[in-house]
Amino acid sequence: MSCSGAGSADGHTVAADSMAQAYELVVRAERAVLPGGVAPCAIAVRDGRIAAILDAAAELAAVHEVRLGADEVLLPGLVDTHVHVNEPGRTDWEGFATATAAAAAGGVTTIVDMPLNSIPPTCDVAALEVKRQAAAAGCAVDVAFWGGAVPGNLADLRALHEAGVVGFKCFLLPSGVEEFPPLSGPGLRAAMREIASFGGLLIAHAEDAGSIREAPHGRAYGGVLRWRAPEAENRAIAALLATARQTGCRVHVVHLSSAAALPMLAEARAEGVPVSVETCPHYLTFSAGEVPDGATEFKCCPPIRDEANRELLWQGLADGLIDCVVSDHSPCVPELKRFEAGDFGAAWGGISSLQLGLPVVWTGARARGVPLSTVVGWLAERPAALAGLPAKGKLAVGADADLCAFAPDEWFTVEPARLRQRHPVTPYAGRRLSGAVRRTWLRGRQITGEDDRPTGRLLRRGGR
Ligand SMILES: [Zn+2]
Repeated sequence: MSCSGAGSADGHTVAADSMAQAYELVVRAERAVLPGGVAPCAIAVRDGRIAAILDAAAELAAVHEVRLGADEVLLPGLVDTHVHVNEPGRTDWEGFATATAAAAAGGVTTIVDMPLNSIPPTCDVAALEVKRQAAAAGCAVDVAFWGGAVPGNLADLRALHEAGVVGFKCFLLPSGVEEFPPLSGPGLRAAMREIASFGGLLIAHAEDAGSIREAPHGRAYGGVLRWRAPEAENRAIAALLATARQTGCRVHVVHLSSAAALPMLAEARAEGVPVSVETCPHYLTFSAGEVPDGATEFKCCPPIRDEANRELLWQGLADGLIDCVVSDHSPCVPELKRFEAGDFGAAWGGISSLQLGLPVVWTGARARGVPLSTVVGWLAERPAALAGLPAKGKLAVGADADLCAFAPDEWFTVEPARLRQRHPVTPYAGRRLSGAVRRTWLRGRQITGEDDRPTGRLLRRGGR
């Protein structure tokens, strides 16, 4: 790996007139994950965008030139469309500075912030402005925003859409925070009609309130499984699909855990219902049987299910039925995980894996023979398309020069202290993972390393 300043190979300074046309950065890689497949190339950056993708040996004048190591692969910066930043209002759980630093360290160059767990929730334009102001204080990566669809804010949806949110999140059962209540059946229909009227996107936490059983008590994970059985997801997804058929609204199922819903999703797709689906690294990695008693760092909703379910989720990805893998990074203060009692009923549900998504998914993928280029589709290209961010998620001319140097064969052990998120709570502690993020660039500027001035921008749907 070499990094040189302005100058030719023999040390002479490049003349000022040729510097005027020099690219600000050229990155050469023996392997780069391009939209058409893995190939050697030189990526030339001007004004923060990919200006040219050329032969790896092409002669180019550059202010900075980087040659990736033989063990490194150049990827597009990843796009994580499911991040709860929690600022303002619950900044002691997580904030823009810490969440985006974790993102950068994990090769993620764009996050999309969820509308809930921060206060106010992002349910009208004034709240969006509060959020944007909080984020403007400094983000290491680019940030876009989801709006919220809740009872009573039907009249705010179009204005939020026009203000640039990438879509609307709703719940079909209590969300866990009282300021973000769920939509009822008629409320869901009305919201989807309204969102369809301006061509927007609804994303749903799909669990059915009526199918949720008694909350768990105590340290056994089995209580969580009984509390939120797969039927809760399956019923809510069926209702969502029925409403999509009625209204024509585009819908997206967040954090799918129940693989039993996949045939129904396949059928809806075959009919032409505009539905997409994501799952999360934890559902692809863990199984219920391996969650130790009292280990509330594994608690999330919907829950981690059995091994057979996990393998069916991998199959759903292979079949193209599941579009994206995103983190559902959902932190809280450690006290709310109730580690002393280890009580799965009392603990907050949420797993924070923004920094680890790529190695976690790659470790599982390579064990199943899935190539890295396919993983990049799930973690970069498809989430960018979901959020309507055309400049993101791919190594293509005209796209933002968001890049990640990834060493796919380097193994490491997860040490919580190395996570940049606010609280180093993680169910991945001590786990061996394959794939190290060596460097990350945002619009052609390296954001991992000594110079960590925050240069992330706030993005609007469709924009940069
Ligand atoms: Zn979430």
